[in-house]
Amino acid sequence: MELFQHTLAKKVDIEGEGVLSGAQIRVEFCPAPPNHGIVFERADLPSPVRIPVRPENVKAVSGASVLVKGGVEIYYVEHLLAALNGLAVDNLLVRVFGGEIPLFDGSAKPFVEAILRAGRKPLWSLRRYIRLEEEIVVSEGQARVCLRPAEGLKLRYLIDFPHPSIGKQEFSLELSQERFLSEVSFARTFAFLKDILPLRKAGILKGGSLESALVLDDKQVLNPDGLKKPNEFVRHKVLDLLGDLYLLGAPLLAEVEARYATHRLHIKAVKAVLRNLYAWRWYPSPARAPLAVFSLPAYAA
Ligand SMILES: [Zn+2]
Repeated sequence: MELFQHTLAKKVDIEGEGVLSGAQIRVEFCPAPPNHGIVFERADLPSPVRIPVRPENVKAVSGASVLVKGGVEIYYVEHLLAALNGLAVDNLLVRVFGGEIPLFDGSAKPFVEAILRAGRKPLWSLRRYIRLEEEIVVSEGQARVCLRPAEGLKLRYLIDFPHPSIGKQEFSLELSQERFLSEVSFARTFAFLKDILPLRKAGILKGGSLESALVLDDKQVLNPDGLKKPNEFVRHKVLDLLGDLYLLGAPLLAEVEARYATHRLHIKAVKAVLRNLYAWRWYPSPARAPLAVFSLPAYAA
């Protein structure tokens, strides 16, 4: 568990193709002060609009998590948020010159590289966690997300796709920066050709290629280099869940078990946590923070 909040040591930016628009989109990561949180900005608009990462500013569509405020939207925030959650970055202004975050290779790797290029910078303010105190369950048919109290953040995911390359897969991650980097950060999103082609025809997807996702036909993975791990699919679902949980606006202490879930259900779970005010508390609590601050010099030494 991180004791102090972090931002980045310097401004850094990345640029890539938006799969919805087909346009090149620049994203700037700007360092931010303590307690600022993660805030996105639609920097391409004549009057830029800022959207703080909070459950009330979030919606899910098929295959993406979307930040939305007053009709202004930013699509595909989940892999970037997974990188920020995985590397414990608390405060950042993310300026986006378009309505979507580029997918790059469909994993969190490009965002991780940008964060590590800038470097993490500690801020002398305590990190505040949302610590779950009671079980919360959300479900839709067979799909379910269950959150239970725990000391760290432990994720467990089960998927079952009737496809020869996927089938039943299960993966667990107890979050640390090292395990995030080595076990899930590289796992790419996946899509089925039969779902993509109609979107292409309808003009909804103007960009995207085998460079931006794992693509499967009825029999196999079409990407010439194949999979990075046989269970890359379920590892990616863990990555998605990690990103969606950061939509809480603070790091979570809980054990989260997801089964056959989607962004929609992840976000339903996030909203359920915030709605159930008696199911969680801040840790350390505001009342206890001054005591911890009192011992700061010892930590700083
Ligand atoms: Zn994803």
